[in-house]
Amino acid sequence: MNRIAAGEVVERPSSAVKELIENSLDAEARRIDIELAAGGRSLVRVADDGCGMEPDDALLALERHATSKIASAADLEHIASFGFRGEALPAMAAVSRLVLLTAANPAEGGVRITVEGGRILGVEPAARPRGTTVEVRDLFFNTPARRKFLRAPETELRHAQEAVWGAALAHPEVEFTLRHGSRTLIEAAPTTDPGQRLRDLWGRLEGPVHRFEELASGVEVWGLLAAGGGAGKPTLTLIVNGRPVRDRLLVGAVRRVLGVPGTGAGGARVVLFVTVPADEVDVNVHPTKAEVRFARAGSIFAVVERALRAGVAASQGHVGVRRVETPQWVAESGSGPQPTVEAAVMEPAGSRRPLFPHPAWGEAAEPVAPPATWQAGGHPAGAGARAAAPDTPFGRLIGQYRSSFLLLEDEWGLVIVDQHVAHERVLFDRIRRRLAGETAPSQRLLEPLLCELDEAAIAALPRVQALLLGVGIEADPFGPGTIRVSALPPETDADAALAVVEALLERATAMDGAPETVLEELADELAASLSCRAAITVNRALSDVEQRTLLADLAVTSNPYRCPHGRPIVLRLGQDEMERRLGRR
Ligand code: ADP
Ligand code: MG
Repeated sequence: MNRIAAGEVVERPSSAVKELIENSLDAEARRIDIELAAGGRSLVRVADDGCGMEPDDALLALERHATSKIASAADLEHIASFGFRGEALPAMAAVSRLVLLTAANPAEGGVRITVEGGRILGVEPAARPRGTTVEVRDLFFNTPARRKFLRAPETELRHAQEAVWGAALAHPEVEFTLRHGSRTLIEAAPTTDPGQRLRDLWGRLEGPVHRFEELASGVEVWGLLAAGGGAGKPTLTLIVNGRPVRDRLLVGAVRRVLGVPGTGAGGARVVLFVTVPADEVDVNVHPTKAEVRFARAGSIFAVVERALRAGVAASQGHVGVRRVETPQWVAESGSGPQPTVEAAVMEPAGSRRPLFPHPAWGEAAEPVAPPATWQAGGHPAGAGARAAAPDTPFGRLIGQYRSSFLLLEDEWGLVIVDQHVAHERVLFDRIRRRLAGETAPSQRLLEPLLCELDEAAIAALPRVQALLLGVGIEADPFGPGTIRVSALPPETDADAALAVVEALLERATAMDGAPETVLEELADELAASLSCRAAITVNRALSDVEQRTLLADLAVTSNPYRCPHGRPIVLRLGQDEMERRLGRR
C-alpha cells in the first residue's frame, strides 16, 4: 500500500479543483460547475451531475484517511479490501472545512456530511438532484505554516483556472462553468470540437485557432495554437493519453519555439494532445498524477517540436517564428550520448561553490519538529523486515548513494531523496522569505561588474531593481547599453549572479499583466533561478551532519515533495513492492 500524505495531494486551491473535477469526471458527470472565492483560498466548490454516492459510501470515502491512522494490521487489511486507490477527499477534509452533499438516488434522499480538519462534525439527510457537491472552505486553516505559503488570490486563481482548462480541454464533451465571486469566467457548452472548446474557454480570443499534427515512431501529437496578440510567455496545456498533466520538458519546447519577445508570439496558447502506448508513459511519478515520465522523452520532445513548428508555419501572419535551436538535449539520462537537460541543470557552469552557503552546515544539526505529513504517517509495513527507529523527519538515515541521493528507511520502505532538488527547495523558500521582507546578506564589490545588455533589457531594470536588492544584488544602469552590479550576496559567483540578472531582465521584458502579478511571477523566477544555481549538485559527497541538516531543513519547507520547478524530490520504494519483486509474496 502506498500511503499518500495530505501535503502531497493538496498543495494549493488548484489541487483541490483538480482532484474534485477528476472525481466528477470519474462519476461520469455531463456538467461540472466550479465556484471559487478569493482564488480558492476561502472557497472551492465543485458540483456535478454524476452518479452520486450512497450515504454509506460517502462516509467511507471521507473516513479512509482517519481510519488508515489506526495502526492495526487487521484494519489496514480491511481498508485494502475496499480498494485503496486515492485519498484526495480525506486529504482535503484533513486540511479544510469540507462539506460533501451527494445523492445517488434522489428518491431515497441524499446526505450532507460536514467535516472540519478531518473530524466529522455532522451527517444529516439532505435533498439534492442526483450528483455530488463538494465544498472546500478555508484551505489549510488548521496548518498555518502551509497557509502562509498560499499566494495572492489572483495567483491562486490563475493556477485554479489552469486546472479547469486542462480538464475542460481533455473533456470537451462535458459542460464546464467557472465562477469566481460574482464573475463568470468560463461557460463552456459541450462540444465535439476541441478548437471550439478553446474558444469558449478563452473569452478574449479573437484570432483563428490553428490545428497541427505530427505522427512519428508510435508517438501521436496534435495540437491547437492560438496567437495571444500580447506580450508574455506562451502557455501550454498538455494532455497525455487523455489526462491533463504537466511536463517541464515540453513547456521548454513550447517556449523555445514560441517564446521570444518581440516576435508577436507573446501570450500564445498551445494545447498539445500527446498519445503514446500506455507502457511508455509512467503516470505514477507524482502522487496526484500531475506529472508523467516518458520512456522515450527524447523522441517525444523532437516530435512535439516538429509539430509546434508546423503549427507556427500554419499560423504564419499571426505568430512570428523564432529561430529554432536544434535541441542538444534529450530527456532521460542514458537515452543518448549528449548531455542531458538534468545534467545541465544540476551542474551549472563554473564554480561548484554554493551561492548561499548552508548556514547550519558545520554546526550541529538542530532538532527540528517533523512536518505534519510525517507525524501523520506510520504503520509497520507487511511481513518480514522491520524499520529501525527514525532519526530524521523522513525516517532513519542510511547514507548517501553515489554522492547524489540520500537513502533512508521508514515504516513504508525505502526513501530516496535527491539532494540537489532538496537543497533547491530549501534555498527557494529561504529566498522567497527574503523577498518577502527578511533582510538579505549582501557584500559590496571593490570593483563593480559591468554587463552589456540590449536596450529592452535595460529598460526593464527599474522594474526588477527592488527584487534584486531583496536577494542582495545591487544593480543600476551605467551608461548606454550597460548595467553595473555593485553588490552581491556573500560568496556569490559573479558569473552566476550576472546570469541570474540577465535572465530576470529577459523575463521582465516578456511579461505583461497587472504589475503586482508580474512582480510576483518575477519573484518566483528569481528565487527559482538563484536557488537552482546555488544548490548543491549531484556527485558531491556530504558529511553525515550535512545530510541530516538538509533533511531537517527540507522537512519544514512549504513543499518537501516537489522542487520549485515541479520536479519530485522524494521517491519511495515500498516494502511491499520490494518484497513482491523479490518473490517474497
Ligand atoms: P479516488 O478518486 O482515488 O478513489 P477520492 O478520495 O478522490 O479517491 O474519492 C474517493 C471515492 O469517493 C471515489 O472512489 C468515489 O467512489 C467517491 N467519489 C468522490 N467524488 C465523487 C463524485 N463527485 N461523485 C461520485 N463519487 C465520488
Ligand atoms: Mg479522486
